[in-house]
Amino acid sequence: MIPDMLIRTAAVPPFFKNGYLVACETTKQAVLIDPGDEVDALLDEASSMGVTIAAILLTHAHLDHVTGVARAKSATNAPVWLHKDDLFLYNGVVEQGRMFGMRVSAQPPIDHFFTEGRALTFGDYVVDVHHTPGHCPGGVCLAIGPADSAERQLFVGDTLFAGSIGRTDLPGGDMDTLLNSIRTVLFSFPDDAQVLSGHGPVTTVGEEKRSNPFLT
Ligand SMILES: [Zn+2]
Ligand SMILES: [Zn+2]
Repeated sequence: MIPDMLIRTAAVPPFFKNGYLVACETTKQAVLIDPGDEVDALLDEASSMGVTIAAILLTHAHLDHVTGVARAKSATNAPVWLHKDDLFLYNGVVEQGRMFGMRVSAQPPIDHFFTEGRALTFGDYVVDVHHTPGHCPGGVCLAIGPADSAERQLFVGDTLFAGSIGRTDLPGGDMDTLLNSIRTVLFSFPDDAQVLSGHGPVTTVGEEKRSNPFLT
């Protein structure tokens, strides 16, 4: 755990996808990660914590991770970030909804594309962006930690879960690419680095190296 970094999570049916609010306690600056149907809970949390959302960061553009972007954007006016290789999914969110038999609204335009190796900052924290394709072409790992330290918490989207890995049967998914992303990018972090996934509980790099049946 990184002292001073506040993390709040919410997830709601039908996808039980984790949306995250990550805030710097010192400066009261925050980012919102993957706002979906739980967006109002996270926005309420931000206002009760008295933090300002400086950016909306998307680990990827599957519909469960983006259905709250319009609401988040209108509440905060913060810029929306995505990897460019997932723009086709983002622009196709209405069709993604149709695939799942759901009516989903189009979302506001992406403001910025992530650039591999170019860190973002909010408050006293940096967000290192690592491209981790496989679950989808533009998946990223957002490694967040203090600017003056190497410690990072990993927001991995649907690339890696506690005891499982992301599905690869959706458009642009590829199993070999996914396993390579996990082994070369995520597993290069220290064993005690926390992994905060798009679905399910928190885990660590070491725990998944030891016990994830897809990776041992
Ligand atoms: Zn996904
Ligand atoms: Zn998901």
